[in-house]
Amino acid sequence: MKKVAILGSTGSIGTQAVEVIQKHGMQVTALAAHSNVKLLAEQAMQLHPAAVCLYQAEKLPELAELLKGTSIELLSGMDGLCRIAQMPENDIVLNSVVGMVGLLPTLKAIEAGKDIALANKETLVAGGSLVMEAARQRGVRIFPVDSEHSAVFQCLQGNDGNRIRKMILTASGGPFFGKKKADLRHVTAADALKHPNWDMGSKITIDSATMMNKGLEFIEAKWLFDLTPSQIEIVVHRQSVLHSAVEFEDHAVIGQMGVPDMKIPIQYALLYPERKPCPTRPLSLTDYGTLTFEKPDLETFDCLRAALDAIAEGGLRPAIVNGANEEAVGCFLRDEIGFLEIGTLVREAMENLPGGEVHTYEEVLAADQAARAYVRERVSAASAR
Ligand code: NDP
Ligand code: MG
Repeated sequence: MKKVAILGSTGSIGTQAVEVIQKHGMQVTALAAHSNVKLLAEQAMQLHPAAVCLYQAEKLPELAELLKGTSIELLSGMDGLCRIAQMPENDIVLNSVVGMVGLLPTLKAIEAGKDIALANKETLVAGGSLVMEAARQRGVRIFPVDSEHSAVFQCLQGNDGNRIRKMILTASGGPFFGKKKADLRHVTAADALKHPNWDMGSKITIDSATMMNKGLEFIEAKWLFDLTPSQIEIVVHRQSVLHSAVEFEDHAVIGQMGVPDMKIPIQYALLYPERKPCPTRPLSLTDYGTLTFEKPDLETFDCLRAALDAIAEGGLRPAIVNGANEEAVGCFLRDEIGFLEIGTLVREAMENLPGGEVHTYEEVLAADQAARAYVRERVSAASAR
């Protein structure tokens, strides 16, 4: 049984991973969260990791109090996350933190030769070339957790090296599929947080509502499977049963289906290559009856279009789009901007900030920070008016 470190153990993916890990009796080496002290302490008491990291150092004394009498090492901040990612005991690191903050720990885990189960898609959007090159050099495997990418990874098993002609990247369309811009002007965070098929953290749920999630996944797929943008087709499939598919040279299409439950891809990434009973229900196709497939609406969903334009240019452009989006989503969740402004701000940041090639993590970080600062300035200038 592999030994696992979980970065982001208290989130939607993290808690489902804990359920999978407990079902299969896997050992947990370390846990990390941002600020949810209570759940992190509960998980630590149950799973007995050697170390836990709380990113927010101010809350560390509270965590220490809850873990008094144990020998669990307490860490904090980016240093703590990176230490956990590199622990010699890890066989695999599940990166399920949200946001580009996960990039450095991913690079550190790879440097230490650890396989990665990757949910944290922003890592590949911002620094895909760095991550894939580091993994190649170090001979480390990256197991996708994102359901669409896990689907493709599953479709490629036993493929004997045949070339992918095309990837069909399915999208639920989110809560606002079929709406036009005029309908979306007054959408609130509460409306946008109601996803039809998936129960997820707030950032990715907003990304699904703006369809930025599909843009991020498009870029993620490009890096994971070494595809050109023209090889990836986004198809809206409202039921989220076909999790994505691969077309080969002979036009045979192989897809992966299942109920929309992240425990399946999480378990596959952690137990690969084994398939064992998973704590979820089986798929009944006749319960669904009809599966539908439609084109995405690039006129309404500006974020999706910005992401596609960013990866067409490449270099630092996707990091800028990702950073602007992270900041704009935060502003929307705090009710500082309207729903459609997320797309406007992402597009503006993309068009106004300098791009360039990616050579180092520091360049990616600087592009990310410039994009966040751009959005913050635009939002505070608008609120001062
Ligand atoms: P959540 O918001 O539910 O959870 C995020 C987790 O990351 C929490 O444990 C949070 O801790 C932790 N975290 C955030 N910032 C830091 C930090 N600086 N240091 C350490 N820990 C941190 O998000 P999700 O689980 O929904 O998503 C996680 C990632 O997986 C995202 O990249 C998302 O796009 C991707 N993903 C998610 C899917 C889903 O179904 N949820 C599906 C496919 C991909 P705390 O609780 O303390 O805030
Ligand atoms: Mg997905």
